[in-house]
Amino acid sequence: MTKTNFNSKSIKRHDIKDKTVLVRVDYNVPMDPGTTNIADDSRILASIPQIEYLLNRNCKVVLLSHLGRPDSSSDNEFSMMPITTRLSEILDKPVLQLPSCKGKDVEKQINQSPHRSVSMLENIRFEAGERKNDQNLSRALANLADVYINDAFGVAHRAHASTEGITHYIPSYIGFLMQKELDILGKLMSNPVRPMTSIIGGAKASDKMGVLRNLSKIVDTIIIGGGMAATFIKAKGFGVGASKYEDDRLSEVRDLMENDRIRAELIIPTDVIVADRFHADANFEVTHVDSIPENMIILDVGPRTTEKYAATISESSTVIWNGPMGVFEWKNFSSGTINVAKAIAGLKDGTTVVGGGSTADVVSKLNMNDDVTHVSTGGGATLAYLEGKALPAVEAILKND
Ligand code: AMP
Repeated sequence: MTKTNFNSKSIKRHDIKDKTVLVRVDYNVPMDPGTTNIADDSRILASIPQIEYLLNRNCKVVLLSHLGRPDSSSDNEFSMMPITTRLSEILDKPVLQLPSCKGKDVEKQINQSPHRSVSMLENIRFEAGERKNDQNLSRALANLADVYINDAFGVAHRAHASTEGITHYIPSYIGFLMQKELDILGKLMSNPVRPMTSIIGGAKASDKMGVLRNLSKIVDTIIIGGGMAATFIKAKGFGVGASKYEDDRLSEVRDLMENDRIRAELIIPTDVIVADRFHADANFEVTHVDSIPENMIILDVGPRTTEKYAATISESSTVIWNGPMGVFEWKNFSSGTINVAKAIAGLKDGTTVVGGGSTADVVSKLNMNDDVTHVSTGGGATLAYLEGKALPAVEAILKND
């Protein structure tokens, strides 16, 4: 991540009044399958302070987001309309749904809207140019407003027309939610209170190697769990039964565990819960990692491991968690993840940050959102940040003058 101080581009530092402001939000909300019912409106609720701040400054607010993965602009299932309706209820004022996200008609409707009004552009992913960071689309978006604010941390790792390209054509700033993510993650990575522990789990080691490599330079202890633990157990010289492991990652993983020059100590499971098939109702047993039966697959960390992990967490001052310890979606294989979550929630005096992929869902399902310091909203963006990569959308705003 850049060393430049992004505070200088924080919208709070700039006196924006009476302007038309285009806000890139992340309204990619989950829908009940096959319907247009919003399953969880927390992303909409989280955007309200930024919108109200602008309305209180007599601005016209134009919102811009993606939703799902539409194939084409006729994919009605992905229209922003249900979100517009919900937003209007929350704000208790009309929100104008625009028919597209560019063009003369849209420009005219925005021009005719009064100050302190809110309108919503149609799904930006209806435009093929969005993902290609097409400069014509970026320019068309910039034409709609005087000022641009990016408040969509979830797509900050993408150089798209609505995140990166647009900043070349309009004064651009960092919004409230984006600022909060950058503040918290930035402080965590540059100035952590020690001891600092990172818990990394999830499906595949290859998805997390970048994060592991970067965190291993920063944190004191890394705890390993999830499907990826099989690659670590194998690299340590044990059999993993019928569990999938990544042969091409073994030497890299071995280096992480054994290289004395790496700051972090890596802890891997000593016992695991193995099952006779990949199924919620599979037969299962606890086994030490030195005796995993040939035909069994690892679906969770074992009770001794969980105890050790919880103890390490409870002795930490800073914790970052990404990735479940097992197939937490299935009750019989959820206890490693639940107990790690409980240990993190129990760390009342420490800084605890959870994020990326399915980990935020775990915390939310367990009603532990209020028990952690911060739940990072970006899946890929959080991982990119933890990997130490620059976020193109943020870099672009820092360069914008
Ligand atoms: P990620 O998105 O990489 O954090 O991975 C999350 C997914 O990893 C969840 O859906 C879990 O069910 C899955 N997972 C965790 N542990 C295992 C395991 N031992 N075997 C297979 N999948 C796992």
